[in-house]
Amino acid sequence: MRNITKDQITTCKDCEFRHICTDCRAYIEEPHNIFSKPLKCGYDPYTNKWSDWSTNPLKQKVIEFYGF
Ligand code: SF4
Repeated sequence: MRNITKDQITTCKDCEFRHICTDCRAYIEEPHNIFSKPLKCGYDPYTNKWSDWSTNPLKQKVIEFYGF
């Protein structure tokens, strides 16, 4: 897992910040897919908008999964 680069991560591979981002992939959007985006990122590189990741309705099930 530690050898995975941002160029292999879903969404991150299209992000302009991927070479400077210091995300934590301890928690990811799809817990069973090691190539999925970090859960705690609220940036959408396709719209160039930041949002609060913890209130994103699409992430609520994963937040429950991790027990936050
Ligand atoms: S800012 Fe978000 S989408 Fe961009 S590389 Fe970092 S974790 Fe991935």
